[in-house]
Amino acid sequence: MTRRGPADPVDPVDPVGPVGPAGPVDPAAPGDRADPAEGEVPVVHGPTVDAQTRCIHYRTPLDVIALRFACCGEYYPCHLCHEETAGHASRPWPASSRHESAVLCGVCWSELTIAQYLQAEDCPYCAAAFNPGCALHHELYFE
Ligand SMILES: [Zn+2]
Ligand SMILES: [Zn+2]
Ligand SMILES: [Zn+2]
Repeated sequence: MTRRGPADPVDPVDPVGPVGPAGPVDPAAPGDRADPAEGEVPVVHGPTVDAQTRCIHYRTPLDVIALRFACCGEYYPCHLCHEETAGHASRPWPASSRHESAVLCGVCWSELTIAQYLQAEDCPYCAAAFNPGCALHHELYFE
């Protein structure tokens, strides 16, 4: 019986050094803080092909956004996805809904308001470039 040699050496780990104190904890803090549902990730429906919300219709490197539709409040990668999957006609957001969060950056999964999206050429959070061709059919999504 032959052994293949000693176990692999373990890389030495750089010592982190002393960790500072966490600071004084205020025990008097009242327990009535509103706890927003953090980490809540929107669900994107339809035939997506990757984790950046590209779909079978639009999947160039720039197609990284999904849109929430006014009719059902659900995110889809594009209007064709909605048409094929939702089972009902889409309707554009009214012009009075520019403050609604209805655009999702598929790179960083941040939500943009319609107003933010219409002004942006790239994601204000992660700087991912958006497809300028989408502007050609904005009227499908926004009045
Ligand atoms: Zn819908
Ligand atoms: Zn699609
Ligand atoms: Zn982003």
